[in-house]
Amino acid sequence: MVNGEILSSQTNRKGQVMIKKDSVVTLGYILKKGNGEELDRSNAAEPLAYLHGHGQIVPGLEKVLGGLAVGDKKEVTVTPQEGYGEVDPQLKMKVSRDKFPADANMEAGMQVTANMEGDKQTHFTVQGVEGDEVILDGNHPLAGETLHFSVEVIEVRQATAEELQHGHAHGAGGHHH
Ligand code: ZN
Repeated sequence: MVNGEILSSQTNRKGQVMIKKDSVVTLGYILKKGNGEELDRSNAAEPLAYLHGHGQIVPGLEKVLGGLAVGDKKEVTVTPQEGYGEVDPQLKMKVSRDKFPADANMEAGMQVTANMEGDKQTHFTVQGVEGDEVILDGNHPLAGETLHFSVEVIEVRQATAEELQHGHAHGAGGHHH
């Protein structure tokens, strides 16, 4: 009991619903690299909606959002380990151009999917072409980056049974299907 108020685990002292597992959270955000370069920001008309506690956003961001409520703002620095992972040098490779269809576009920035051992599919980004070889990188484009998020909580609500079954948020900012 604090100042005679009754606190439940669902709401904060102002009576607001707090973010917890299975909350559907709508966020406004600005994402910058460690060097300050802006990578992304939410669209005011349709902010991001996600299902909290289901690994839909990077772990370093998700863990600081628990317990926040509508109107809360937070500056969050996320290390590569809690973001998109470290760069794996083994996912950088050169592949002979003739392994690809002759008419395939191999410009830098193109995505290719390769079947790896055990039927696993890995997505690679073409970095460029050197002579007869295509340079591929299977790392996430943000692997190895320290990320900085400025976030604002716009809405918090309980997930519907269908959202929990699907493992993601529906409606504005979430999945449409
Ligand atoms: Zn769904």
